[in-house]
Amino acid sequence: MAEITGGCLCGAVRYTANAEPTFMANCHCVDCRKSSAAGHMSLFGLPADKVEFSGTMSEYAMTADSGAAVTHHFCPNCGGQIFNNTSNNPDGVAVVAASLDNPDIFSPQVSVYASRATPWDPPKEGIPQFEKMPPRG
Ligand SMILES: [Zn+2]
Ligand SMILES: [Zn+2]
Repeated sequence: MAEITGGCLCGAVRYTANAEPTFMANCHCVDCRKSSAAGHMSLFGLPADKVEFSGTMSEYAMTADSGAAVTHHFCPNCGGQIFNNTSNNPDGVAVVAASLDNPDIFSPQVSVYASRATPWDPPKEGIPQFEKMPPRG
């Protein structure tokens, strides 16, 4: 895959990665709905050491439904969400697909927390759905 690039709405935060995404998912959990201000959040994984962020980000740390400590990283100027990291995946980051310069490179493989999906933004048809998170393996 070619270089992955993206950033926030105002451009103050940017990132570049040279790696294959480790996962691509649509998450319908309440945290993703509230933090994205949309029905679900589309996220893809990258190895943390393969992505370079530039610009100053604000952080919001919280405990996820899974019990993991999650930190949301976003632009303090425009509020654009950039990535999350969690205590149960310290070597990876989950990048917000909507921040991609070329969003066409994202293609969700699974829907997670499908049980929390709203009627107005149901899980995508044709891909596996998990009630919560799929078992780790
Ligand atoms: Zn911004
Ligand atoms: Zn979520």
